[in-house]
Amino acid sequence: MVSWSEGSSSSWDDESVTSQLHRTIPCYEWCGIPHELSSRYLHLESCLMQVAFQSTHTGRRFLACAKEKAEEKCSYLEWIDSEWSVAMQFCMGQLWSMYGKENEDIIRENLNLGEEKFKIIEEKRKMEEELRCFKLDFAKMVADKEEAINQLGSAWLAISDLKEEIEKKKLADHGCTNLH
Ligand SMILES: [Zn+2]
Repeated sequence: MVSWSEGSSSSWDDESVTSQLHRTIPCYEWCGIPHELSSRYLHLESCLMQVAFQSTHTGRRFLACAKEKAEEKCSYLEWIDSEWSVAMQFCMGQLWSMYGKENEDIIRENLNLGEEKFKIIEEKRKMEEELRCFKLDFAKMVADKEEAINQLGSAWLAISDLKEEIEKKKLADHGCTNLH
């Protein structure tokens, strides 16, 4: 819990809060670098007006170090708004946990979809491989059939040659018999 006194409260040394406050929300009313705020002197250097957008601090205005580079940024944090009421904090906690749960569900759903997609891709790959093998088998079968047809053609030619030969022989024999 961040202590609150009259006016703004400084929680410069509250490392736990500073390190947790990564999320802010753009607000046109409270943004940029203040020039007239006396509170900025607690920082001694320029600070940035920001609005928290996380946990039970959601919506609270604060001042933070204005340095852009992470290595130059100090842990200065000064709350402008006091902490929300316990009831409000409870409601915000509930809202954020609902949001977190919804995100988890979406991530889980995306994971399932990804897994499903991976399975489909794997299935497709298998089918393509099977089709490739089938095409090869089919091509081999067609080649074998063509070979068989060619052999059959050759056999037919040989038989018809043989028949012709037999016919000639028969004619020749017949001629011989007639001569006798
Ligand atoms: Zn600083």
